[in-house]
Amino acid sequence: MTFHSAPLIARLDLDTLPAGRHAFRFEALATGLGQSWQLPVLVYRGTRPGPRVMITAGVHGDELNGVLAAQQLGRELDAEQLSGTVVLVPGLNPSGMQARHRDFMPGDPDCSSSNFNRLFPGRVDGNSAERYLHKVWTDLLEHNADFALDLHTQTRGARYPLFAFADFSNPEALAMARALGPDCLQDDPGEAGVLETVWNEHEVPCITIEVGGGSIAELLTVNRAVAGIHRVLAHLGVTESRPCEPGCEAVSVPVEGNTTTTVRAETGGMALPAVALGQMVEQGELVAIQYDAFGAEARRYTAPVAGWVLSLNDDPMREPGTLLVRLLHTK
Ligand SMILES: [Zn+2]
Repeated sequence: MTFHSAPLIARLDLDTLPAGRHAFRFEALATGLGQSWQLPVLVYRGTRPGPRVMITAGVHGDELNGVLAAQQLGRELDAEQLSGTVVLVPGLNPSGMQARHRDFMPGDPDCSSSNFNRLFPGRVDGNSAERYLHKVWTDLLEHNADFALDLHTQTRGARYPLFAFADFSNPEALAMARALGPDCLQDDPGEAGVLETVWNEHEVPCITIEVGGGSIAELLTVNRAVAGIHRVLAHLGVTESRPCEPGCEAVSVPVEGNTTTTVRAETGGMALPAVALGQMVEQGELVAIQYDAFGAEARRYTAPVAGWVLSLNDDPMREPGTLLVRLLHTK
């Protein structure tokens, strides 16, 4: 079935679906063209009872490794083997994807672009971004999940490893994050409007999974994310545990922290990291050098605290305030 031949739906109710694989287009919001934003939705409804797991990707439109991971997972799932149901929404923000931007791009000339991941669960009488999320939340997500995973990457121009945010005070979310087996975990109490936080507030344990860098295909990291999601599904009893490809095993002791410190550019120019992702650095250690328009050294940056290198810039051109290095550590 092609995307355009998939049934167009205004609401998804898992309870009404028979066992098997189902593909839909979910109509999120009309556009000013009188057409609509349509989201791909895949449902894998098992023959045996079990939990419903909702997996979203592309909430930020330029975070494509999350989209690739959700799509690959869909190619690997077999509804007949499942106890419970897996729902995939592999591109929640097509307007941002189309514009190669993290935000929702409204057609309303009176609105700026919006970060969807601060606006959940939307608002029925809000602006177009809020109405879009209200529709997605109330007619696609809210009533169809017992557990949730939201796939992201670092913002375009920078990189993360395979990294999970979880609220460690939520034991089921923490157990999912550990089952994933990522390189690192951050204890994250949540923030208003973030999809993960809204799920947790609705008693649906959720983690946010960061799959490498934005707008750059990192196939090993995508494979590791997919293998990790299979481990989460096995942990939840939806699938049997299965062997994974070499290099995709769970990290036995992920680095854990409860806070991050970001070193940001203080001037403009090309900046190059002096450390590698996953490296431990001491306080005061050199982490980046920035060069002026002539290529002369303009500024050196050192670590304000000891920590584990969680993120680096891939895009060398940095203006003041832009991320150079992010360190994960414990307060
Ligand atoms: Zn994101």
